[in-house]
Amino acid sequence: MKRVLIVEDEEGLLEDLQHNFKYEGYDVMTAKTGVEGLKLALKQKPDAVVLDIMLPQKDGFTVLKELRQRHRDMPVLVLTARNFEADVLKGFDLGADDYMTKPFGLKELLARVRRLVQRGPSGAPVPGPTIYTFGDVEVRFEPREVLKTGKPVALSYKEFELLRYMIEHRGRTVSREELLEEIWGVDEELGVTTRTVDTHVSNLRSKLGAGFAQPFIVAVHKVGYNTGVGRRRVRRSPLPHAPASRTPRASTSRRAAGRRRARGGTGARS
Ligand code: CA
Repeated sequence: MKRVLIVEDEEGLLEDLQHNFKYEGYDVMTAKTGVEGLKLALKQKPDAVVLDIMLPQKDGFTVLKELRQRHRDMPVLVLTARNFEADVLKGFDLGADDYMTKPFGLKELLARVRRLVQRGPSGAPVPGPTIYTFGDVEVRFEPREVLKTGKPVALSYKEFELLRYMIEHRGRTVSREELLEEIWGVDEELGVTTRTVDTHVSNLRSKLGAGFAQPFIVAVHKVGYNTGVGRRRVRRSPLPHAPASRTPRASTSRRAAGRRRARGGTGARS
């Protein structure tokens, strides 16, 4: 059974939508605030979300923005008020898949949601054999493999999943709670604590750490972790076991300038 989440604070409309979606054969979840809606979307991962923009606590734009940080491909249809064309554009900018302007026809809404559900998660690039390099560490997703100075490193399943998630969300601070939900599929009430995350991060660091110019998973005080921006392949750095050093690489900007120069030439050279 396909599951739809409806986030709408107008009680009458919410009940109406709930009834109609149930009648169409959906498993329906509802939320009346942005906070509750976001929480449900992240936890239950519905097949589609109908999201009102004007919501108490947290508006639909904020919900969409935060949802997209973790799920780029969950189908979302936003409900906007009449005469707010700018809202529609903003919604698309934030990753909405479709929209309807209030007041709308139920049949049309149902048809649009059906189309989103049938389409399924999309927009997610098919993962290629990309290799990420961080200092002397190479990470491959397919097949799952981590090499340090060319030698395989044994990671537990969860350690690898954690590493993969951190790489996929690199450059953004990821909270311990998010990691618990996404990697372990649980939250604190179920007995797994955020300490678990810290332990796994510390394991990753000790297995992969030495040799990095900078620690690549950085603790952000009271918030979580941030992963440095690694290079998407492709030169293997021939570094032997260099001792960990906190000195940032001074040559980065020069290298970038070199690349810019190189790209500036004609592209059709043989
Ligand atoms: Ca509303």
